[in-house]
Amino acid sequence: MGNPSQANRDGRPGEPAGARVGPGGSVGGVSRFYVTTPIYYVNAEPHLGHAYTTIVGDALTRWHRLMGDDVKFLTGTDEHGLKIQQAAEAAGTTPQAFTDEIAPKFRAAWERLNIAHDDFIRTTEPRHRTAVVELLQRCYDAGDIELDTYSGWYCVGCEAYYTDDELIEVDGVGNHCPIHRRPVEHFEEENYFFRLSRFEDRLLDWYAAHPDAIKPSHRANEALGLIKSGLRDFSVSRTTVDWGIHLPWDDRHVAYVWFDALTNYLSAVGFGDDTQDYTEWWPVDYHLIGKDIIRFHCVYWPAMLMSAGVEPPKGYGVGGWLLVGGEKMSKSGGNAVNPLDLVDDIGVDGFRYYVLAETPYGSDGDFTYDGLVARYNADLANNLGNLAARVATVVAKKCDGVGPAPRPDSPLAEAAASAVAGTTAAWDDVAPSKALDATWSLIRATNSHLEANEPWKADPGPEVDAVMGDALEALRIVSILAYPAVPETSQTIWERIGLDGDVVDQRVPDAVAWGGYPGGVPVVKGDPLFPRIKA
Ligand SMILES: [Zn+2]
Repeated sequence: MGNPSQANRDGRPGEPAGARVGPGGSVGGVSRFYVTTPIYYVNAEPHLGHAYTTIVGDALTRWHRLMGDDVKFLTGTDEHGLKIQQAAEAAGTTPQAFTDEIAPKFRAAWERLNIAHDDFIRTTEPRHRTAVVELLQRCYDAGDIELDTYSGWYCVGCEAYYTDDELIEVDGVGNHCPIHRRPVEHFEEENYFFRLSRFEDRLLDWYAAHPDAIKPSHRANEALGLIKSGLRDFSVSRTTVDWGIHLPWDDRHVAYVWFDALTNYLSAVGFGDDTQDYTEWWPVDYHLIGKDIIRFHCVYWPAMLMSAGVEPPKGYGVGGWLLVGGEKMSKSGGNAVNPLDLVDDIGVDGFRYYVLAETPYGSDGDFTYDGLVARYNADLANNLGNLAARVATVVAKKCDGVGPAPRPDSPLAEAAASAVAGTTAAWDDVAPSKALDATWSLIRATNSHLEANEPWKADPGPEVDAVMGDALEALRIVSILAYPAVPETSQTIWERIGLDGDVVDQRVPDAVAWGGYPGGVPVVKGDPLFPRIKA
């Protein structure tokens, strides 16, 4: 494992004086903000589904860096289990060599998408083994893991058992997995079980005391429904798999994938090893997940933690699926789109903006190339790109290329304040599409302001200077507010309107208060930020 501090350095802020966190706690009211994506299973290469959750996490954590929080954004890869063992065998290699080949593809994809994760965990790392062993042992010592015999229908693709009535017929033949549509196998094995059934009341009490833990709220109802419909104990070990972490008290058994995988969120903060790191960062602020893994994250995981005497996660952001032609984007569905291919067409920021803005977080979205182009042209080419270009053009022609200062009592000041409030509230609510709509409201207001005043038709003078100073100030504020979604573009605008330093080092809310544009600085036009794409 490489040094995590080397990852995506440019996405993180410098360390302004006073924001540095010393040992033993926070300094100067800096709060910690810990966010995770699921770890991605290395049986497939990175696809749009992975990219979606990871971009949401990246944008959310970039916003919190602007807020001055001390942020930890974790992603990584899930590398154990029967599927990997079998895939490695099929490829004529060892599981370790197999995972060593795939994991870097995720790192490369995140680099391409300008993901500023602070840590990338692989479940084959020693620090992860330490945490899994510690968590297993604590649950075992608490009496919540017990040996039992399991027999049932098992799908290797799902790594899960199915009951008779969950199986489907395919071509007139019964006993097929409802997801993979292939035959299941009848297994009978001695397993250790986690006694999830004992946690129903404790989970319901916890969610009652933390009603906003799951966002958006309709996904919270789903989790509560799962708990109220009755909880079944689940198997946490296998004797049929060797590629994994062996139980500390019974070496014949290997930890089952979910118990292993979920623990990554603790491994990355030193659980079972570095008490100081762990107490500083846990509990996590948000696990960002897809709606298909609510059961594991919002039911199994907090119960496992309660058993072990660990605080449950503070929150969850549950996203829907980005559907392509109505189907979930996945390798087994055969419709995987490699996000990197689309980035070549639309640019990194164009791609990031589309997936954040198009679909309200928590709902399913329909990912289409036409939709991508339409939104790119409307919001980026015609709105933001056009605003930046026309401001620079008018400043060049009417203000000798020097940006004037804004008016304190500008008619745009109110639109800016409202955009700041809306953007802040929406990021706080893990609602990227709402946040961007609020940010874009200032872009729309500024374009209208220019159209109402038509400074390109007026003679140079104080009137034109006033209008252009206001527009430049709006652009300055936009470049900060839009930074979580389009970080490269934000920095480019920042520099073109003559500002020093980096957007990432600006601090909300002070930096987005009206009046920060100094005036008297050079404004340059540069190439189009978002050249129109022909539909
Ligand atoms: Zn299956």
